[in-house]
Amino acid sequence: MLQVKNISFRYKKQAVLNNISFNVKPGEHLSIIGESGSGKSTLLKLLYGTYDLHEGHIFWNDFEILGPKYNLIIGPEFMKYVAQEFDLMPFITVSENIGAFLSNFYPEEKQERINELLDVVELKSFAKTKVKELSGGQKQRVALARAIAKQPEIILLDEPFSHIDNFKKQSLRRSLFKYLKEKNITCIVATHDKNDVLSFSDNMIVLHNSKIMAKNTPQKLYNKPKNKLIASFFEEFNEIDGKISYANQLEVVDKSNLKTIVKHSYYKGHYYLIEADLNGEIIFFEHNTQLESGKIVFVNHI
Ligand code: ADP
Ligand code: MG
Repeated sequence: MLQVKNISFRYKKQAVLNNISFNVKPGEHLSIIGESGSGKSTLLKLLYGTYDLHEGHIFWNDFEILGPKYNLIIGPEFMKYVAQEFDLMPFITVSENIGAFLSNFYPEEKQERINELLDVVELKSFAKTKVKELSGGQKQRVALARAIAKQPEIILLDEPFSHIDNFKKQSLRRSLFKYLKEKNITCIVATHDKNDVLSFSDNMIVLHNSKIMAKNTPQKLYNKPKNKLIASFFEEFNEIDGKISYANQLEVVDKSNLKTIVKHSYYKGHYYLIEADLNGEIIFFEHNTQLESGKIVFVNHI
């Protein structure tokens, strides 16, 4: 189990993380979310032992993860970390990069393993391409494959699909997270994408003002967002009479207390997101057809 006990850290004067504690069970998938600058990347770097903590301790089972003051080489053997800016070796091929940390002792097994990893990140056709010739998204996939090559016990992923286009993102996400679950690899993901969280995470942490604002399952936090920040991570939302609800939890009715004037309809594929004025406040709801701007409609909570 990963145990994070009362850790605090600052780069300069201002605390980036203040007295943070949480545990992650073996094989668990945990997401860390929070606004840009809330300390997600810093937290992952601390878990990896990149910096010395100002307070607190981090343990993986009985092993304490310590910073550079105590270690010549950053990062424990059993852990892999894929940074937001991945560093690969540009002048060798995709296969060579992925196999960089694998033993050469059994060349056939090594090649088999590389092929398996190329499959996971869907880069088979680029096996012999030099990394410098790849796009940002392809490089990110090489970095992911290299990180899982030696089957770490725990993997830290910092916005792992941020450079990958939508055509590939969905299938890569499924493939990678399925692989990690199958191999029982503990996984901690810093992300701002709800799609990384909802279908894949066992738990999620919300960072805000250097603290953990919430920690729970994605289901619990989605269904009962205790504040606007958490709701805004998931969906377009409204606060009506102090109650937070998502746009898909309001429906158009013949008559209600909530009389709105339509301002704009946004096409969203299988529905329209309607922006409307409710007593001078902007609210959002979903509707299956476009509504004319200026039209008066009544809505109600579903
Ligand atoms: P996130 O990943 O959530 O966007 P970061 O962990 O990158 O947040 O940053 C948290 C805070 O720490 C930000 O205010 C950022 O400006 C600051 N910060 C990050 N890295 C450094 C650094 N190397 N030196 C000084 N300040 C930093
Ligand atoms: Mg970051």
